[in-house]
Amino acid sequence: MFEDIPVDVSPMYEGERIRAANMFVELAGPKSIGAELVQVQESVEDGKVSVIGPEISEMTQGEIYPFGLKIDIQGEKLEKELESVIERRVHELCNYVKGFMHLNQRDQIWCRISTEALEAGFKLEHLAKALSVLFKEEFPIIESIAITVLTQEAEVSEFLEMAKEQYTIRDERARELSDEDVDVFYGCLMCQSFAPSHMCVVTPDRTALCGAINWFDCRAAAKIDPEGPIFEIEKGEVLDAEKGEYVNVNAAIAEKSQGMTDRVYIHSVFGYPHTSCGCFEAVAFYIPELDRIGLVNRDFKGETPLGIPFSAMAGQCSGGKQVEGFTGLSLEYMRSPKFLKADGGYGRVIWMPKEIKESVMEFIPEELRDKIPTEEDANSIKEIRKFIREAEHPVMERIKQAKLEAAEESEEIEEIEEIKVDESEFGEPGMAPVMMAPEFAIPASGGVKIIFKNAKIYAEKVIIKKK
Ligand code: SF4
Ligand SMILES: [Zn+2]
Repeated sequence: MFEDIPVDVSPMYEGERIRAANMFVELAGPKSIGAELVQVQESVEDGKVSVIGPEISEMTQGEIYPFGLKIDIQGEKLEKELESVIERRVHELCNYVKGFMHLNQRDQIWCRISTEALEAGFKLEHLAKALSVLFKEEFPIIESIAITVLTQEAEVSEFLEMAKEQYTIRDERARELSDEDVDVFYGCLMCQSFAPSHMCVVTPDRTALCGAINWFDCRAAAKIDPEGPIFEIEKGEVLDAEKGEYVNVNAAIAEKSQGMTDRVYIHSVFGYPHTSCGCFEAVAFYIPELDRIGLVNRDFKGETPLGIPFSAMAGQCSGGKQVEGFTGLSLEYMRSPKFLKADGGYGRVIWMPKEIKESVMEFIPEELRDKIPTEEDANSIKEIRKFIREAEHPVMERIKQAKLEAAEESEEIEEIEEIKVDESEFGEPGMAPVMMAPEFAIPASGGVKIIFKNAKIYAEKVIIKKK
């Protein structure tokens, strides 16, 4: 089937990683531009493959090139709504090609070609040919397919703009509905190839964390392939509408995660947050010192106020894990009226990179727009505190209130004599302000888990009182 392709094509290469040492060139990614787009067309010349711009053989080792992948499909039963779901398979199917690595989706794609592939005579034309065959095999409703690969800066840039318009049209459509308007949600298992216990829950208000699949896309996919990786979940009994907890969603995730996860809150980072595979567009993370939530997107290269960059954070919460205080999410979800609703939505967000803040500005309540700092305003907990004080963030009122309550309470709890924490054990004195800062005592929802590592705590007496 792939005789005229000089490298192997098989699902067994899906996990192949191409590291810098054996990389010939990089395509798209954070240092360049790129996009992939599947579009249903009226008529398509089946099997047509074109490469516009330099082929691999004309590229220079170690360089980074712009990269566009334009896939046109035609078929009597194909609906426009299926475009996203078919497009989401580009990632998996590209990775079947030995020596080609594909990461992420939409305009976030990042690819590499290995030196071995170059030596074997592999070309982008072969990639397109392999994809044509694989897509028709995976989706028999595709009758004709034509693939254009772009590597010329001007063409990729034009294509990227066009692709972005299409992504926006898809995203806007999903905003027409909310979770209450429907009787079914969807589960997606496409990422189980690398995160075997992960299941995405896609609801009208929560676009999948990869940002590439919304509720409408899932509906179309489940209809054409009910046995496929995207399936219906009858909404059923609502356990908590605010947090987004449903009996049937819990049951589905328990089954599909092989028991690894049995509860999920769709709209909260606390308690039982949505699990994260690895292809999330952004991460929401709890900042205990401030009892607030920060957001960081994949493209942000600096450090977050937690002192770690996106990549390190992604490493902590990916792979299908449910890590309280962290959840992977899409940028589109930040435009949802249910965005982390149970946690207070934007009222609870205390830091986000400027780039995403600008892209979701109109969805942030007006009174908070100039009160949420970005990397240009604050980069540490201390700087955030200073910024929100000066900006008179509404949280300051709550802090004052909390201080007053704490003062009243301390009069009540006179029995607590002393808790001595050996600060040197925390590395830096005062590095455990979770318990220290009276203004940000305990999170308002979801509770707090306090983990002491290598800590020595001396106390004559400790009394914990029920409020
Ligand atoms: S991130 Fe979620 S919705 Fe997107 S492909 Fe993976 S499992 Fe499906
Ligand atoms: Zn994923």
